[in-house]
Amino acid sequence: MAMPIIKPVLGDDEIQAVADVLKSGWVTQGPRVAEFEKQFASFTGAGFAVAVSNCTAALHLALKAVGVRADDEVITVSHSYIATANSIRYCNAIPVFVDIDPLTFNLDPNLVENAISDRTRAILCVHQMGMPCDLTQIKRIADERSLPLIEDAACAVGSEILLGTDWEMIGKPCGDIACFSFHPRKLLTTGDGGMLTTDNKEHDIKFRLWRQHSMSISDTIRHDSKDVRFESYPELGYNYRMTDIQAAVGIAQLRRIPGIIKKRRDQVHRYRELLEAIPGLILPYEPEWARSNWQSFCVRLPGDCNQAHVMQYMLDAGISTRRGIMCAHREPAYKLEPWRCRSGQMQCDTEPSRCDALRQSERAQEEAIILPLYYEMSDQDIETVAATLKEACTISTD
Ligand SMILES: *Cc1c(COP(=O)(O)O)cnc(C)c1O
Repeated sequence: MAMPIIKPVLGDDEIQAVADVLKSGWVTQGPRVAEFEKQFASFTGAGFAVAVSNCTAALHLALKAVGVRADDEVITVSHSYIATANSIRYCNAIPVFVDIDPLTFNLDPNLVENAISDRTRAILCVHQMGMPCDLTQIKRIADERSLPLIEDAACAVGSEILLGTDWEMIGKPCGDIACFSFHPRKLLTTGDGGMLTTDNKEHDIKFRLWRQHSMSISDTIRHDSKDVRFESYPELGYNYRMTDIQAAVGIAQLRRIPGIIKKRRDQVHRYRELLEAIPGLILPYEPEWARSNWQSFCVRLPGDCNQAHVMQYMLDAGISTRRGIMCAHREPAYKLEPWRCRSGQMQCDTEPSRCDALRQSERAQEEAIILPLYYEMSDQDIETVAATLKEACTISTD
């Protein structure tokens, strides 16, 4: 089997935690979910944390909470996992894609102003691959234009950002709401799972209702009640629950996060030392106000290097890689779904999978590759990847 891109860190603690839940007889949203939420809120420094079934569900609820409705516009990046754009479409709203800063692979704050129109209802920024986006600038624009700000923090558990004079954990809301993913491709996994964090009590109440069909009395309250009680459903809700089985794993995983991130930072340091030797290779850039959790280690290949050839060479040598982050606007789904790259301009009239306004996003997808980075990865493994990449770059020039 090829060396993986990432590998979840799961062990006896998680196994024991799941066994305990199964023995308890309470398996879906219940005491473990409540405990996981409490610990996650305290870890991030957020006032409230609400667990849901995945980050896509979290994004959907976040957009709904800030009032995004049909035909509204939401400013975001195309250069993200497709869930980011999809969550906007779940509200029947229109994603307005802004290009990225080629250095950080994150939304370029300088392009936001120009994308705002009368129909803009929110900004959905992404901390791509765990690297915090420029929240200071984006928040300033959001405040000036009275727009809610939602953070897609799917990849960013444990990443930190300097806001003013304080280092804050991503998820201590700078915007209105942050959304996390616990998919196994991220650093903390519950199999699947998601979390919303906010300082807004109203949002917290809504999230708790909506994730459970807007049922007026929760299972826990009904279970403990001495009197017969009938629930009602005052508005449309969803089944976005997390199970107690997942939450129990999440609690054990959260304890590991500081150690996992420390290890990743050391591994990235080693990668940098070794990869500096490859001419033209661009190593990831970390602004002085950001501390990434390095959910992905993404390098940009030298200009004359063929991405597919490099990836094939690596795979033949037993090393998995992934190409740069996808661009939603280039996917067939977004030939069917509406989107804009500038306010007022629907789709792009140029070539189907090219958009002049999103060139940096497209180039990042075409020129970057993600290298293996996982907890058990040894120094020897890192050396092997670096040496193989060097060979691949030498051989795979166009
Ligand atoms: C993984 C990911 C998501 C989706 O998370 P799920 O938990 O799988 O729904 C959303 N946005 C970004 C940026 C992601 O990387």
